[in-house]
Order: sequence, then structure tokens, then C-alpha cells
Amino acid sequence: MNPISPRLTKAFSADSYNTKAASLQAKLHAYLSDTSAGVANPTVSPDEEYAYWLKRLKEEGGKGTPAPLDEVLDRTVHILHPHYMGHQVSPGLPSLGLADQLSGMLNAGMGVYEMGRPGTVMERIVIEQFADALGLPDTTDGFLTHGGTLANLTALLAARAARWPGKNEVWEDGQTDELRPCLLVNEQAHYCIDRAVRIMGWGAGGIRLVPSNDEFRIRVDQIDQAVEEALAEGYTPIAIVGSACTTSTGSFDDLAGLADAAQRHQLWFHVDAAHGGPFGLLPEYRQTILAGLERADSIVIDFHKSCCVPALCTGLFFRQGKDAYRTFRQRADYLLSFESEDEWYNLGRRTFECTKQMLSLRVYSLLYEYGFPFLHDYLRRVNELGQHLATLVNSRMDFDLAMPPDCNIVCFRYFPKTANLNAQQIDALNEMIRQQLVESEQFYIVSTKLRGRYYLRCTLTNPFTDEGHLEKMLDAVEEIGNEIQNLRPLAGLHFVTA
Ligand SMILES: *Cc1c(COP(=O)(O)O)cnc(C)c1O
Repeated sequence: MNPISPRLTKAFSADSYNTKAASLQAKLHAYLSDTSAGVANPTVSPDEEYAYWLKRLKEEGGKGTPAPLDEVLDRTVHILHPHYMGHQVSPGLPSLGLADQLSGMLNAGMGVYEMGRPGTVMERIVIEQFADALGLPDTTDGFLTHGGTLANLTALLAARAARWPGKNEVWEDGQTDELRPCLLVNEQAHYCIDRAVRIMGWGAGGIRLVPSNDEFRIRVDQIDQAVEEALAEGYTPIAIVGSACTTSTGSFDDLAGLADAAQRHQLWFHVDAAHGGPFGLLPEYRQTILAGLERADSIVIDFHKSCCVPALCTGLFFRQGKDAYRTFRQRADYLLSFESEDEWYNLGRRTFECTKQMLSLRVYSLLYEYGFPFLHDYLRRVNELGQHLATLVNSRMDFDLAMPPDCNIVCFRYFPKTANLNAQQIDALNEMIRQQLVESEQFYIVSTKLRGRYYLRCTLTNPFTDEGHLEKMLDAVEEIGNEIQNLRPLAGLHFVTA
């Protein structure tokens, strides 16, 4: 054989790794020491950003120069900045980033036990710990997977396997024309439910949107009618999906009411608790707004949203653990034996993924280092921030709150009462406000459409945001809103809806 290439040796060299790691660690230490330094979200257009990184690669690519990780740090949104009030992702706990570094270095992708022993058993442990802390039944089992979108699809595939009414086995025989399956869900549900339905081949008619009430919760009183309508149109309802909470407004569906309806109609009851599931760790949520969660056949919880775990990291829980083994009834004998359900340790039998990251190390490390009390403190803090923002919005004359928040998601809009603007103008005004606010790089907030109207939307995931930061953000919204309004007569600006 030829001698090993020096390039290979150098790329894997311990000393070279150490130098690069030390340099990044120093940078991250400075970063963590002052998270409010600099802007919340550097704003660069996609084309400019593309040009930047292409140029960097052309200049330095392949020369052994350490990858420009510090530049990535400078150019990315800063969830740890107290002015970050945007999407639902929580800041990743710094020490869990170390777990990621280890699993990246080991690259022992899970799927079969032999390839990832600690990761595999940790996965069982963290699922058990969370199931217990959430008050789920003893029969609960589950696994971790890459994100809520994939977890919801996996859960619905299990629902399909469990509740398929025909004599044929859909996994074996494919979907037959005679049966048109469907599920029922809040019209406000995350779009990934719709996507899952269509991936399963159920088509547009396979998703029956149930109207929501003034607080954007599913109207449980409409379920019977929705089931009847589906049946009358030749559809077979398979499942009811609850949202805990909805993505736009953070509204929790009435889970106990949905569990009753599922029982009445013998449907699978799935809860998409991607965002709100962890709030069930708090007794004040478990016994009120999340009551009924324990009756779900399957539950999705994103640990990267409300648990400070690096993304992606999602738990999928099944009330009857064995249901998870029915999802993928296919043979891959060279990897796995499907003969026995006792092989809990070969997780690839139940997950969509074959190779999978060592996701459990993040959650295990969190529980090991800080335990559930950390999560209690975190969840109470971000919830309190949500309540406080709502109070501030309500105290300002020219602001409207979409609904009193259930947790840390708050939707509102600037609505100057004396300006005599119509609905389209209010929409356009708020859209411009958000655009200017984000372009200022000082704050990061997002938006949503509620019943066709444009709203500003904040998710308060950074526990280091405080009352003052919230006030400042509202001041900035108001200031920009006023400026835009004052400019209007001068420039003869017309508001146009997007
Ligand atoms: C965020 C979210 C999802 C999607 O989860 P990902 O982890 O981003 O794939 C699904 N459902 C709800 C309710 C969510 O809030």
C-alpha cells in the first residue's frame, strides 16, 4: 500500500484540533460573558450573505485554515441576546454544546445498539424520566427523533397502523381506493400536520380542519359534526390531533375534551405538544391547561423549544409503548430483527432515522447537571415574561393583544386608535414596523396572520430578557409606527397589503 497521505494525518491531528478548539472556546467565553453586546440579529440579504461565504471559501478553501466559526458566530441571530424575542427555539445550554462536540467527534450514530451503547440507553432513561415527570402512565415508552415535524409524521404513521380499519395491511398492500382516511385537527395547527397527512397519501381531504374559538383553541363542540361530515363524504376518521399549544398564538386545545371525543369516536388521540409539552413539568400547568395530556395515545415534545436543549431534539411518547413498534413494519434483516418487541435497544426499529445523532446525550446531560428544578425555573421565568409582555401591551392605548397568552408566545399589534386606519392599513403598518425593527438589528420579533390579519409575534425564550427589554421593544414598535404614520401625508404613501 501507499503511505498514508500527510493531508489525512494532519486533518485528524490531535494538536491541530486542540489549537482550533482553544481559539473557539476563548471566543465563546467572551460571547457568553456579555450576551447583550452587539446586535440581536445581524441583518444581511440572502444574496449578500451567499456572496460573502462563497468569497470566503474561494479565498481560503482547502488550505488548512481553521473554518471561520467565529464569523458564523458574528453573523447569526443571537438567541441569548435579551432583545431576541422571535421564533420558539430556546437558547441551548452552553454545556450541552459540549455534549454535541463529543457526539460529533465520536460520530457513533445510533440505530443499532452496538453502534451507540450509552446513547441508546440514555434515550430510554430520558424518555422514562420525562414520562414520569409529566405524569404519563406507566405503560408509556418512546424515543427521540430529529424535530417535531418528523415526530408528528411518525406518530401519525403509528396511528394509521393502529387504527386502519380495512382488512388489508396498509404497510404491505398500500392504500386502497375504497378507504379514504382522514384526521381532525384545529385549523390553527402547525403546517407539519397537513404535510404529514399528504405524505401519507391522504390528500387534501384527509385533513379536516375544525374551527377554533376566540382564543384560537379547537372548538370541541364541533368535533361530532366534523366526524359526521367526514363520514357522509366517504372518509374514515383515524385520529384527532390536539395542539398544545398552537404555534401562532400559543393556545392550548382542551385536551380532556379532545380525549373524550377521541374515545367517543374510537379515534387515535395524538397531541402535538412540540412547544407546550414541557410546561406540563409544572403542576400548575399539568393540572389545568394540560389536563388530558396523559390520555393521549401519542405525544410530541420538542426539547429544543422549551427545554434549552440544542436543536433538533424531539421526544415522541406513546401511551402504550408497544404501539411504537407497529409504525414501520418492514424487514431490514441485515440490520435488525423484527421478530421480537423486546429489543427496545435497537431504536432504529421504531424511528424514521437509520443513523441518528446521539440526541439523548443532550437531554441526559441536562438532567444530570441541573435536573428538573432547572426546567421548572426556566419555564416559570419565560411564562412570566409572556404574561408581563401581555400586561404591558394592554396598558398601552395604541396596542392590541390578540389573546391573553397561555405561556410565552404573545401576539399583538400596533393599532393607533385616533389615526382612522382601515384593516388593510393596520396590517401594512405592522408589517412595515416589523421590517424596520428587524432591519435596525436591535430587536428580533416575528409575525403571524390571525384570521387574515397581520400580527406581531414574540416568543420569550430567553430567560435573561427582563421587564426593561420588553418596554424598550414596545417603545421601538411605537416609535417606528408613529414615524411611518407621520410620513404618510408628507410622502403621499399608500399602504398596500402584501
Ligand atoms: C415548532 C412546532 C412544530 C415543528 O417542529 P420542528 O421541531 O421545528 O420540526 C410542530 N408543531 C408545533 C405545535 C410546533 O410549535
